[in-house]
Amino acid sequence: MSAPRRRRRTPFKAGVVAIVGRPNVGKSTLLNQLLQFKLSAVSPRPQTTRQEVRGILSGDGYQIVLLDTPGYLGRPAHLLDQQMVRLARAAMADADLVLLMVEPRPPGDIEEAIMALLARQSRPALLVINKVDTLPNKAQLLPVMDDYGRRYPFREIVPISALQADGLDLLLGLLVRHLPEGEPLYPPDELTDRSQRALAADIVREEVYRLYRQEVPYAVAVAIDEFREQDPAHGGKDYIRALVFVEREGQKGILIGRGGQALKQVGSRAREQLELLLGRPVHLELWVKVQRRWRQDAQFLRWLEETNR
Ligand code: GDP
Ligand code: MG
Repeated sequence: MSAPRRRRRTPFKAGVVAIVGRPNVGKSTLLNQLLQFKLSAVSPRPQTTRQEVRGILSGDGYQIVLLDTPGYLGRPAHLLDQQMVRLARAAMADADLVLLMVEPRPPGDIEEAIMALLARQSRPALLVINKVDTLPNKAQLLPVMDDYGRRYPFREIVPISALQADGLDLLLGLLVRHLPEGEPLYPPDELTDRSQRALAADIVREEVYRLYRQEVPYAVAVAIDEFREQDPAHGGKDYIRALVFVEREGQKGILIGRGGQALKQVGSRAREQLELLLGRPVHLELWVKVQRRWRQDAQFLRWLEETNR
């Protein structure tokens, strides 16, 4: 008599994926695409675990906890930079899998630095080459893939276009494949464990960086000092007041721009992002403030963390 046939269940896959890469490479775009703006269901409970969890992707047989690191910053000159590098490094060290995102060209200084870090920690990593839609000829990818492949033993090299949602199914499948077996870390309906305030501060800061990358690099902190949902005083919109801190008067002038034009641009882009995040209309107010040497000011940094909690 033959033994009863037992169906082998595919084991549940769960783990933490750290997304790293230089600013503007498309990390947030990928996150949003993967989460498909489900962050509108963000739970407002205070953050319970690490700072940098940006999204939780739960699917059939898997759960991926996505960390968006603040990018890799070069030589840490200031206290905050050191904190950020520490965070990025810690995120990579804690992650079950690192996703290094790059543009379709040969590695530059930042990519080299990250690969050196990967090698030192011998992390399992996937290389994601984003923005392939900008290549007139896909054959141009081959030398880039080759170049990276020779420098680090990436588990996979995956070309995608985050913007056009091209290659994302494949990427998702590969992420799941390379995650360890394990129990889910969060309830399946949880999408992020960060507070709305913390997410809102990130969004404003990102838009500031995007517009002024050269002029005020990393000299900007954002505090969300008011967040009133569906505020009757603002026509039922969510009222969000963000304080944008810079270190010097000159930076304040640059940030505000002639006739307030520059700040207006930051404000309207940040508002669009916030509305996508919250799924509701938003009234966003930005105030620029000078706070000298705030990056070395431990008390200010503590206050900032409290305010955005
Ligand atoms: P991050 O700084 O790494 O988070 O980058 P973002 O996600 O904010 O994207 C930076 C810019 O690159 C934005 O203008 C995106 O629209 C653009 N971008 C992101 N992914 C792609 C892509 O696949 N193709 C193209 N052409 N642009 C992209
Ligand atoms: Mg980003």
